[in-house]
Amino acid sequence: MAFISEDSIREKADEATIKFLDLWEELSNSVLGTSLPVCIKDLKKNPLYKHITYEFSTAIPDPVEKPVSLAIWTSHYPHLSNVLITHEIGHWILVLKGFKTIREGRLDRVKNALIRSMIDHPVIYSLQRKYGHDPLEWVDRRAIDSIHYVQKQAVPWPHGINLMALYLADDVFNCSKRVSKRILRLSRRYHPKLHEK
Ligand SMILES: [Zn+2]
Repeated sequence: MAFISEDSIREKADEATIKFLDLWEELSNSVLGTSLPVCIKDLKKNPLYKHITYEFSTAIPDPVEKPVSLAIWTSHYPHLSNVLITHEIGHWILVLKGFKTIREGRLDRVKNALIRSMIDHPVIYSLQRKYGHDPLEWVDRRAIDSIHYVQKQAVPWPHGINLMALYLADDVFNCSKRVSKRILRLSRRYHPKLHEK
């Protein structure tokens, strides 16, 4: 399967992304005793994710290829921004640093993933800022995309109303004040149940 190797990522990467790749290499060597090179793969080529029709990226160690790599599966393939690369590596830097998250047995995989993202994201955004990436523009763009799901006539959110609330809360916590006000105004108007106490 065609994919973008870490060597190719490094050729086009900015300084912050190189620092993230170095940090990931150092951490995986010290915690796992081996380095897991990062690669980028096309989401459409993965049977688990190929049904996804909206923009989506996730990173997961890929034990099939040798050597084992940290594969970033993305619907943006092959044009993934540096900010999204450091974001996805950031989730796994937190795992190797022992950052605690919540896993609720009664909830399904998608709900648990959204809760984990909501807990991880503020830490990842501050790590990105520390290494020279400003994720705000990317977070705002993600938040503006999700506004389409809030509006009445938009494409129905694929995972139901509760998951939409989790996804939107993640954006509202982290995007700019201007965009969060817009999301809250629209969601109060079209989905008042989300705001009931
Ligand atoms: Zn994330």
